[in-house]
Amino acid sequence: MDAHSPRPSWDDYFMGITFQVALRSTCDRAHVGSTIVRDRRILTTGYNGAPAGLPHCDEIGHLMIGGHCVRTLHAEQNAIIQAALHGVSAAGATIYVTHQPCLTCAKMIINAGIKRVVYAGHYPDENAVAFLRDAGVELQHWSAPIHDEVTDNESPN
Ligand SMILES: [Zn+2]
Ligand SMILES: [Zn+2]
Repeated sequence: MDAHSPRPSWDDYFMGITFQVALRSTCDRAHVGSTIVRDRRILTTGYNGAPAGLPHCDEIGHLMIGGHCVRTLHAEQNAIIQAALHGVSAAGATIYVTHQPCLTCAKMIINAGIKRVVYAGHYPDENAVAFLRDAGVELQHWSAPIHDEVTDNESPN
């Protein structure tokens, strides 16, 4: 086994997949991806884009209201909705997101029964952080691993 290529931790593994999911986003104001995982199994994925069957931002442009593009469902929302569509419970799951969730997504994460949020990029929404904390959802920042050194930062999962 190559000592310079240690197996990724579970968080690194699922975050890597989540960044791939984000590439499917159709709103270039923010390419966001999310993956819902329970017991080390992927339940659903989501990226930000228009509702199914409707034209996307990269086809007809953004729909701007109050400085935000409102054409899209957020990545976390699409992952949670996909769970509903397929009749899969997200209770007790972890959600990986390329960006810190907004308040609306935080509220949906709480009520979906998701217990842990792992995110990479920061998003300035103090209310989302407070809501998650007060609801007992663990919020954990993730940084890309440094490949030159063997790190031992396995998650408790
Ligand atoms: Zn857009
Ligand atoms: Zn959101």
